[in-house]
Amino acid sequence: MSLSSLFASRTSRMKASEIRELLKLLDQPDINSFAGGIPDPAYFPRDAFAAAMAKATDVHAAGVSLQYATSEGYTPLRDWIVGYMARLGVTCERDNILITAGSQQALDYLGKVFLDKDDTVMVGWPTYLGALGAFNAYEPVYDRLDPADNRRPQDIVAAAEQNGGKVKFSYLSPDFANPTGVTLSVEDRRAILAQAQALDCAIVEDAAYQSLRYSGEDLPSILALEMQETGDINACRTIYLGSFSKTLAPGLRVGWAVAAKPVISQLVLTKQAADLQTATINQIAVAEVARAVFDTHVDTLRSVYGTRLQAMLTSLSTHMPEGVSWTEPAGGMFVWVTLPEGMDGAELLKQALQANVAFVPGAAFFADGSNTNTLRLNFSMSAPAKIEQGIARLAQVIRAQM
Ligand code: PMP
Repeated sequence: MSLSSLFASRTSRMKASEIRELLKLLDQPDINSFAGGIPDPAYFPRDAFAAAMAKATDVHAAGVSLQYATSEGYTPLRDWIVGYMARLGVTCERDNILITAGSQQALDYLGKVFLDKDDTVMVGWPTYLGALGAFNAYEPVYDRLDPADNRRPQDIVAAAEQNGGKVKFSYLSPDFANPTGVTLSVEDRRAILAQAQALDCAIVEDAAYQSLRYSGEDLPSILALEMQETGDINACRTIYLGSFSKTLAPGLRVGWAVAAKPVISQLVLTKQAADLQTATINQIAVAEVARAVFDTHVDTLRSVYGTRLQAMLTSLSTHMPEGVSWTEPAGGMFVWVTLPEGMDGAELLKQALQANVAFVPGAAFFADGSNTNTLRLNFSMSAPAKIEQGIARLAQVIRAQM
């Protein structure tokens, strides 16, 4: 007997992630894997975490660290985030912050809080696959988010109504997006904000990679730009999602949401019902490590990953044949490659694996599975020499297919 006939209809849109399947490949010894999207474990602040965990489990502290805690999150961590956000031009209070189990959990909760079936979410084409995965369970319709959109807002609203719902939010990652590595100009950020104002919808700003800039000037987040207009976080429509996954360590599952108080209150209710709270000891350890080493550690990562990005861009220029193009990110973990029209990233992967090189085919990052002639390359996991070798192999496979 199979219980799958009893599953709710929303499960029909839950698909195995191509990325998860591909992560299994990372275990093979000689593979040049550009497939993952993860930080290099060699640069986890291991000693700082060991010390923080030891302190958190001593006889005086264990009564707190191993105990249940509030759904909102560990107060000293929320206070550290208040200071961090202030440095980014966002003045907020502790009550504007919810600690989540990674930003991925915030994406799920935002779907749960905002989306009725057939509501519209505006997303980039392509966009973060994990966001589509999180939202899909709430059965939305996707429309295309584009700073150069010249459609009239009322036409976007009318299209959403035709689909049986409302435009609820725009979702984007303005800095070094996953999968493209592209950064939005301040002008484009303002255009996205203006469009959300005209549509009267929320903005979900995913800042997972914001700290990982390797060249150029830091740009204000969309929330910081909106703060310049409103002067009050509680009057803002932007919901900012932060994460310690790319800066400290993803295994602890600690991220945060910053938003107007009514949004945070609703997210807190959602969290209470879903998992009660984020692991107490992990929040304590992250607060301790962030206080001790955040800035110096991020400086180290910028230097290491920046060198790797440069190695990848140089190797692409050296080896790729005419007709292949790629983005030139200023940060993050990914370069996005476009193959000549008609070539297929998924087909190419089969050949590439024979040559011991892996990447993620691009189609999965498009809400409609289009643009199959694209691929995402990760550079944070490989040393420069390995990057050079892998890109040379990949170029050879592409050439053979052309
Ligand atoms: N947003 C983006 C753009 C990501 O790339 C990731 C991780 N791959 C996440 C959110 C989720 O990160 P976490 O849940 O570990 O904070």
